[in-house]
Amino acid sequence: MNPQFPGQYGQGPQPIYRGPPGPGQIGGQRPPGPNMYNGHNMGPPGQFGGPPQPPKTGPGPVQNGPQQGSYSGPQGDNYYGAGPPTSIQNKPPMGQGQFQPPSGISLGGGPMPPSSMGMQRGPTGPNQPPPHIGPPLGPPTSTGQIANQIGAMSLSGPLPPGPGPLPPGAGPLPPGAGLRGNQPPNSMGQGSVMAPHLDPRSPTGMGSPSTSSAASPHSMSMPPSGRGMPPSGIGMPPSNIGGPGSGFGSAPQQPPHIVGGMPPSSMGMPLSGQGYGGAPHPSSGMVPGYATPLSSVETQSGMNPPPPMSFSGSTTPSSTGYNQQPTFAGGLPPNQYTGFPGGPSLGPGASQPGSQPPPQQGQFMGANSIHSMQPYSAGLGGAMPPGSRQPASSMQPPQQKRLDPDQMPSPIQVIEDDRRNRGGTFQTSVKGGMPPLVTTDFITQDQGNCNPAFVRSTMYNIPCTSDMMKSSNIPMALTVSPFAKLKEQETPPPLVDLGEVGPVRCKRCKAYMNSYNIFIDGGRRFQCAFCGAATDVPAEYFAHLDHTGKRTDFYNRPELCLGSYDFVATKDYCKNGVLPQAPAFIFMIDVSYNSVKSGLVNLICERLKCDILVNLPKEAGSEESEIRVGFVTYAKEIHFYNVKGSLAQPQMLVVSDLEDVFVPLLDGFLVKLSESEAVIDSLLSQIPEMFVESRETEIVLGPVIQAGLDALKSAERSGKLFIFHTSLPIAEAPGKLKNRDDRKLLGTEKEKTILSPQTNFYTKLGQDCVSAACSVDIFLFPNSYVDVATIAEICRITGGNMYKYSYFQCDIDGDRFIEDLKQDVKGQKAFDAIMRIRTSTGIRPVDFFGNFYMSNTTDVELCAIDCYQAVTMEIKHDDKLNESDGAFIQVAVLYTGITGQRRLRIHNLSLNCCVQLADLFRSCELDTLINYMAKFAIRNVLNKTPKDTREHIMTQTAEILACYRKNCASPSSAGQLILPECMKLLPLYANCVIKNDGIQGGSDISTDDRSYLMHMISSMDVKSSSVFFYPRLLPIHNLDPHSAEFPAAIRCSSERLQEDGVYILENGISMFMWIGHNVDPAWVKEVFGVQSAAQIDIDKCRLMDLDNPTSQRVRDVIKRIRSERHRYMKLTVVRQRDNLEPWFNHFLVEDKGLTGSASYVDFLCHIHKEIRNLLN
Ligand SMILES: [Zn+2]
Repeated sequence: MNPQFPGQYGQGPQPIYRGPPGPGQIGGQRPPGPNMYNGHNMGPPGQFGGPPQPPKTGPGPVQNGPQQGSYSGPQGDNYYGAGPPTSIQNKPPMGQGQFQPPSGISLGGGPMPPSSMGMQRGPTGPNQPPPHIGPPLGPPTSTGQIANQIGAMSLSGPLPPGPGPLPPGAGPLPPGAGLRGNQPPNSMGQGSVMAPHLDPRSPTGMGSPSTSSAASPHSMSMPPSGRGMPPSGIGMPPSNIGGPGSGFGSAPQQPPHIVGGMPPSSMGMPLSGQGYGGAPHPSSGMVPGYATPLSSVETQSGMNPPPPMSFSGSTTPSSTGYNQQPTFAGGLPPNQYTGFPGGPSLGPGASQPGSQPPPQQGQFMGANSIHSMQPYSAGLGGAMPPGSRQPASSMQPPQQKRLDPDQMPSPIQVIEDDRRNRGGTFQTSVKGGMPPLVTTDFITQDQGNCNPAFVRSTMYNIPCTSDMMKSSNIPMALTVSPFAKLKEQETPPPLVDLGEVGPVRCKRCKAYMNSYNIFIDGGRRFQCAFCGAATDVPAEYFAHLDHTGKRTDFYNRPELCLGSYDFVATKDYCKNGVLPQAPAFIFMIDVSYNSVKSGLVNLICERLKCDILVNLPKEAGSEESEIRVGFVTYAKEIHFYNVKGSLAQPQMLVVSDLEDVFVPLLDGFLVKLSESEAVIDSLLSQIPEMFVESRETEIVLGPVIQAGLDALKSAERSGKLFIFHTSLPIAEAPGKLKNRDDRKLLGTEKEKTILSPQTNFYTKLGQDCVSAACSVDIFLFPNSYVDVATIAEICRITGGNMYKYSYFQCDIDGDRFIEDLKQDVKGQKAFDAIMRIRTSTGIRPVDFFGNFYMSNTTDVELCAIDCYQAVTMEIKHDDKLNESDGAFIQVAVLYTGITGQRRLRIHNLSLNCCVQLADLFRSCELDTLINYMAKFAIRNVLNKTPKDTREHIMTQTAEILACYRKNCASPSSAGQLILPECMKLLPLYANCVIKNDGIQGGSDISTDDRSYLMHMISSMDVKSSSVFFYPRLLPIHNLDPHSAEFPAAIRCSSERLQEDGVYILENGISMFMWIGHNVDPAWVKEVFGVQSAAQIDIDKCRLMDLDNPTSQRVRDVIKRIRSERHRYMKLTVVRQRDNLEPWFNHFLVEDKGLTGSASYVDFLCHIHKEIRNLLN
């Protein structure tokens, strides 16, 4: 082990742990606290001592026991012994005898026609401009890195600081006293949300006016479709208002007037604009809008009375001994104690408990204002606000009252509450501890469970049985980002080097050593937390136990006390037993006519050296990156470049036989930057000149990927291809595609035909890439259809990224592209990775979502994975779980690091198990659930109809909430919608998923944009999906110039926008600045330097650096937003009532969509109706 490898991908050095410490080392550590890992010391050793579980025979393929089949190696399964099906041996490295390199020819200056036979002489000339040399290649150590180094050098950095605050009375746990032992079996007291009385009976047919698209005020202002320059990253101009809607926009129907009953189900057209709101329920017998005090009901059912809704309620004994909660830093209450979602109308009642029956905490009542409206419609008004922005031609009958959106659970309130209550430090010492929301700023201290940035679960309290899980309808899913970027204050997983011994593992299930294992027999054996088997401790790994049964080296071994760590892998974990080499990056530049004309070739060559290559990833502390680089250009043939450092000039080698591509050179193609700087500089300065006259419009893609793959294979390196590509590959060559675009199919039952690949060529090629660990990133610069659905297959299977810049113009989009490329190149990465999930006996992963390849049912093969990519998996029961044991998850990723070192990254997570649905509903994580539901929906898009996809989400939403209503909520009027506190935003977010362009995009976006979004969604981490589905809307017209405070977000609805305001809306992919009609000219002057909003040049999306506080503040806000996202968002300026406004409105997801998709209010009413149907 080289001590020069202290770090990990620039996140700061990784402390290295080698072997057991001497006694002196222990003295310096914090003494072991008996309670510190009480979550792990779950029971007497004997509890794991049972006989091994027989192999499961459930439906799913994944087993916790020893794996059968060809993959049984280091990850438990001899992966490299048997070799994957797509074998690397298929081809000789160099293509059998084609190895003879064509005579390389030194390149000089002057233009050079790219068309050539076999090999081409590059014109030479002494008048070559001097090589462009960028900034020096020294290590640009950021201050962040330095800070990290300092922080992490202290050995105690990554170690847990000892016993955290424990709840009163929770003393040292005796062995066997599980954490859950303190908990009453039936802890109610979770919050419920009572939404306003949503009686679905509708007195009149409210739907008609605003569902008629012809009469829609929005339709008046729609821009013509197909604008030439769509302004965003997605590049979709709004259009086709009258086109097929998402199904909600069906023809208006007159709902029958039904007395005392439910309206008929609208049979697949659930929200056709009918007023589902209806009149108040006359027979509810309750104070209008107020829930029956639940305490009496709950007491009857043996539940504790609910605590008062104030925050302090969470620490009272009556809060059901939910004893993991107070141990969080700050002792703040968990999510479910956050009290009321604020709404103006419920202020008085909520803040003066004496005036009303004490509400259940978190209960959402306050519907009195609604009940004062007689009659009212919930269905209509929510979509079209009557506010100032409403054009005078509004079809909204003025006498109609509508459901006040403030009555609906508010995401802003939930986010703000969590920020307030859960911000600060999150310590992971507790089993099943719910992490703060992804939108909350918090620092994680790893105390035995992994950082939630690495693994998030839809639930932290798993039903013990499959039946219970099924009845809840909540899927158990994990979203795993094994290489997530941590915050600067957080410690990256330390690197553990156990030398020849290698990682210590359970002999049966092969789980890696972790903090949940229990050492027995005086430390000579350990019992696996996952399968219960006892394994002998290798002599080299032995340590004595102290009087509590803890190993004396506990705090010196990350794998015993932390949730996340890396192991140095031995040769057993390498292909053919050979340690790998450092990976390589190959930059492959399209030099066709379009590419040259748009300025792309020039831009890439100009910026590649100074912005990109200097950012090649390297180990912290290293002077230079170990990554090898290579360069290829192509149009209708492929040009390789010899950039060996000893050459005076680069050499070009042309391959024109595309049917059977070969790599014309080995030596000098993949080089270390530092060894070939001058030659690379020379090459990059020559390429634009060589192809300046390019007239080639037909280009290839398949052979380009094949060439890159073969080059990596020949060099025996894993790596990445960065392909910069402009158009549909129509040239005669393998992988040729035809233009089959038919946008009008989008949104119809036939849409899957154009959203699926037109050929399996790229799928198959992707599998070849997997066998050689060649990941493919494609940057698209299309001016027309390029068939993303087909091309993205190669990225999907190889764990690659795709970027798309439609109608690329260098001056407008250049910086954005370069920023994206820079992030893509320099971000943390792992290569040639295989991920395996191990779980406690009783559950197992059964389904996986993301960009990867699987050749069997357990191993997720990732040619590469970066810090932004996530894999989501669904976990199901194959047996029962034991409530007292809890459940454990271990994510193990075997990978090659950026230096070529083979490593294992391990993440562990412990979860509670429950037998009461109420416990489950208290510990759900909605953002992760939505992440899963969206990925599931993407899969449905390709297999089912849009209607099926939509209805699946609606049904699941209704079933989950109906289960809660039936099993956990107190009996109350059926007219009341009662939502579990943790999931009170489920209807809103589910609707956002349904409305999203990636999932239900109609013909108002392009086919490529749709496929592009689908590709991105399928590998999104939870933080990305959270803002993607519910965008962030920030007022910026009233920023305090003397404060650095970030503006508070507001709800995504047009009625929140003021005509004199300016707002930023962003979803991680697109960013807008909406400028109200009556904006203060002074503000415009300060920010844009012009006299009025009308004079703003909206095509120029860069804000000027004006020297005034307002301008500075606005730019700071935008800068910070961009820094939080991993794709550089272009800023699109939208003036109120401009042509672009409907497109902006599209992202106001609480409103009714342009094509008739449901507003939040409509959807909530519909879901409420569905719940009632289910309960009846
Ligand atoms: Zn085991």
